[in-house]
Amino acid sequence: MIDPNILASWLSRLVQIPSVNPSQAGPKAGPPGEARLAEAVAGWFEAFGGQVQTHEVYPGRPNVYGIWRGQSERWAALDVHMDTVGVEQMTDEPFSGRVADGRVYGRGAVDTKASLAVALALLEQMHRDRRQPVPNLLIAATVDEENAARAAPMFARWLREQAIPLTELMVAEPTGCRPVFGHKGGLRLKITVRGQTSHSSVPEQGKNAIVAAARLIAALDAENERLRAVPSPLGHPTLTVSLIHGGVGANVVPDRCEITLDRRLVVGEGGDATQAQLTALVAASCPLPVEVERLGGLSAFWQPPDSPWIRQLADWAGRPPATAPYGTNAWAYGDLPGACVVFGPGSIEQAHGPVEWVELAELEKLADVYARWWS
Ligand SMILES: [Zn+2]
Repeated sequence: MIDPNILASWLSRLVQIPSVNPSQAGPKAGPPGEARLAEAVAGWFEAFGGQVQTHEVYPGRPNVYGIWRGQSERWAALDVHMDTVGVEQMTDEPFSGRVADGRVYGRGAVDTKASLAVALALLEQMHRDRRQPVPNLLIAATVDEENAARAAPMFARWLREQAIPLTELMVAEPTGCRPVFGHKGGLRLKITVRGQTSHSSVPEQGKNAIVAAARLIAALDAENERLRAVPSPLGHPTLTVSLIHGGVGANVVPDRCEITLDRRLVVGEGGDATQAQLTALVAASCPLPVEVERLGGLSAFWQPPDSPWIRQLADWAGRPPATAPYGTNAWAYGDLPGACVVFGPGSIEQAHGPVEWVELAELEKLADVYARWWS
């Protein structure tokens, strides 16, 4: 067993290095991005006997991979993202990393520096004791999870290029130490309706893009109703019209209206096929020409809940498997060999808010699970 004070001090140290995702970095964020933390993590991995490789995702923002050779053919990998959400909305000091009331506080404490801290504490201990893990161990400290999610597919591609025969992959996120075996994916589309402008005193000379968009929105709402009947173990898919923008003036027939929609995907739904289906629906329901542009897309994640890896983790953690309402990097790992799970300490309800913390007891539980996994 590892001293909980060691886990807490590792986590404090990580929280004290700001790594706010640049997309959410305001005046209180400190130096934006993961660069400083990535450099520190690479240094620790090396100091603890890892073979280190950095993999640039954006200029100056690399994924950091550490490999520790094991005593078996197994390959155990952990994806833990280094970035955090913004701090401008925080009422608590974001980077204090203070330890109080059996908790560690600060941005990233639960999402998801807790998992990185526990991994580092165990790697340090293993190195000091000159112990080798049983499985080959790959720790991937990744960037940009809280925004574009480009790092996860790059890590997946790197794994394929290296021909690493993964047997188990864990994505670190706050799941209350429940092994999460599924979550929905998402598809975001921007639809632009093209009309023709005219003076609003002679509207018949124009083609009103907003009125045409209204028909299209009604059709999308009907589609959302239809989706309620589509069965899935993750809950039915959904479609939300989330943004609308159009018009140039109170006395002008609008020639353009833009709509953004968020379609949540369930297991078995592909982004390309869903986009094609929605494009056809939109074209059929709108009396004016439309263009459809994909803003982003992530697949759903699913593992059989009774698979050995999920059951093993549930047993070690003493907590039942679950699905998650939110998306994670696991969306990018469906085609990799090995079993994938999302797992980590603390609740998602403690993440992204005005005060963020994780319980020390959760860190201890995670340390116990990692120790069993790696030995
Ligand atoms: Zn996270």
